[in-house]
Amino acid sequence: MTAQRPPFVAVRCHGQRSAAKSAVPTCNRTPSRPTRSDRWPWHPLTKSVIQNRKSNFSFLLCVVCASAVNCFAQERQAQLSWWDRSPEQKIGQYWIKTDLPADEANSLARHLNVMYSEFSRRLADMPERAEEKLNVLIFKHRQDYILTLRARFGVNASASGGMFFVTSAAPAGALAVWTDDLPRRRIEHVIQHEGFHQFAYSRFGNDLPPWLNEGLAEFFGEAVVVGQQVLVGQSNARVVNQIKDAIELKRYVPFAQMLSITSKQWGDATLDESAALRYHQAWSMVQFLIYGEQGRHVAAFETFLKHLNTGLVADEAFKRAFGEDIADFEARWKRFASTAKPSAFATALERIEFLAQGALELNRRGTSYPPTLKGLREALEQIEFKQTIETHGLKVELGADDDTLFTIPIDDLSDTDDPPLFTVTKTRLVGLTHRERQLEDSQPTPPTIATEHLRPGNLSIKWVRGDGFRFQIVVE
Ligand SMILES: [Zn+2]
Repeated sequence: MTAQRPPFVAVRCHGQRSAAKSAVPTCNRTPSRPTRSDRWPWHPLTKSVIQNRKSNFSFLLCVVCASAVNCFAQERQAQLSWWDRSPEQKIGQYWIKTDLPADEANSLARHLNVMYSEFSRRLADMPERAEEKLNVLIFKHRQDYILTLRARFGVNASASGGMFFVTSAAPAGALAVWTDDLPRRRIEHVIQHEGFHQFAYSRFGNDLPPWLNEGLAEFFGEAVVVGQQVLVGQSNARVVNQIKDAIELKRYVPFAQMLSITSKQWGDATLDESAALRYHQAWSMVQFLIYGEQGRHVAAFETFLKHLNTGLVADEAFKRAFGEDIADFEARWKRFASTAKPSAFATALERIEFLAQGALELNRRGTSYPPTLKGLREALEQIEFKQTIETHGLKVELGADDDTLFTIPIDDLSDTDDPPLFTVTKTRLVGLTHRERQLEDSQPTPPTIATEHLRPGNLSIKWVRGDGFRFQIVVE
């Protein structure tokens, strides 16, 4: 969709959550080419040495010994810390250390590398100020994430879904994220958001003002990757509406205040409604600078970034790029944000997850209903279904009584003759074994939930039977 390289060319295709509160980076600009061993504070395993002793033991006893060694090895593996049992490998631009199975690790690594291409393409004119050292820690379990970050790096990560941090124990910085059973899209948002912070650190150090750092991180966090294509500029209807409400009720952060918030103030703020609004307003300000008023601010925005890249202080960089009339800047943003339209794709992504969570809840309760969108909706209304999502520390409730959650807005990519919509149909399973048929009879797979006419691609829910059901959102 973006044909040529101009970094922030005003491509008009329209666009968390999981709280991602970055640790305030400590400045480190002493890059020396890392060797394999000094990339991380490394505590090597004490290798178990099993002597190959000659003995007169019988063959049977050798077998017993082998089993015992095997059991010992397994037990030892289970007792090892996350750090010691998680291998690290270079995949594309990133050093990735993870305890995820190889296929899941490779899939997230691919995603990171697609985003890296997007970051570097859009910020191509910003030379590196510090050497890139793209360390990534991906934890299968949240508990290991919290314990490892605390024990190894002294970072309190308990309220976050992921973070980019720089500490004395990780002077080059690291992106850390946990997965558990979170929907894939949730994880992608976090690594896109934090991945930008990581990339930006090598170009801007600590010189991006927080509103811009967070606004750009959200801009990339909201992007959608379809194959090798990154669809930027996406805006979620819920966020668009929150900004409109804030402007109408005069609850938004005045620009003079927003532009002067320090990293410490941003990081120290309580995670409440105003914190979530600050993130969303920062995102909206970046959207305005890239897409507002037919893209007339793009050139100034790039000048602003270049000044920051060269180390000019943010106030001065802002004045040189946009002038001194902050009130006018604010008024223009308000006009843009008050009439902004949400994107179909990003909104459908959030809503299809809501529908799938609802279908899962009905499945748990053994509730039957006609396999249609209307049937699903009535059944969810009946049980007063609600889904709670977290957005920058703020819990937001989506409820079945909200009609819009069953619809998809039209955007610039949509065909108005064939607008995007959700469909619910009975799931058809073929080639089941006798055992699978029995399981299906006792607990049927939830209906297939999908979209039609959604661009750039349709979405569908893929159900996976295990202890109950899990689902993944598939982009077609
Ligand atoms: Zn952030």
